[in-house]
Amino acid sequence: MTRLLLIGPPGAGKGTQATRLALAFDVPAISTGDIFRYNVTNNTPLGARVKSFMDAGAYVPDSLTNAIVADRLEEADAATGFLLDGYPRTTDQVAELDRMLLAGGNQLDVVVLITADTEEVVARLLKRAAEQGRADDTADVIRHRLDVYAEQTAPLIDVYSARGLVVTIDGLGTVEAVTDRILAALAERGLHRGSSTL
Ligand code: AMP
Repeated sequence: MTRLLLIGPPGAGKGTQATRLALAFDVPAISTGDIFRYNVTNNTPLGARVKSFMDAGAYVPDSLTNAIVADRLEEADAATGFLLDGYPRTTDQVAELDRMLLAGGNQLDVVVLITADTEEVVARLLKRAAEQGRADDTADVIRHRLDVYAEQTAPLIDVYSARGLVVTIDGLGTVEAVTDRILAALAERGLHRGSSTL
């Protein structure tokens, strides 16, 4: 049973690390951003509801986001653990996740905070914009996303720190180096990866 959460500013490398850690711990990586993007790309009713928020770099309303996660966590593959990437992002979402987990008598094991300075994350996001053409990776929207993160999500670090759950990882360096740092920090907390090759 491994229940992890990755937190950090846009561009810190959460998505990349989430995929690798999910493999290492044999749990599903659950990314609300990916779920929303999938729905936008496939023109689903959910996609239609979230597109304008995403394009503006604003958060999708909590009620909608919480409902999506509640459904996802009920799927069979999440029963023995999961890695949340990009959720929760607001204090309301923290409270809702607490409720969802407590209903099954569970709680988070560790919150991994990936840090990266603003200049670095802006550079990474602009690079991703050039490579992947994400609608929310333009310079203006990136700046807004960073502001929203600072205002609404950074305070969550204190909430989880007060529970003794946060490990802080320097997000600078190669993908492999950052994964190794995270795996070492998790091992120190008694969370040991499985045998999958990364
Ligand atoms: P991400 O891929 O995690 O950067 O998410 C991309 C966009 O999806 C965000 O800028 C938000 O518009 C939306 N989003 C993803 N996760 C959440 C969340 N937990 N709460 C609200 N909006 C979210």
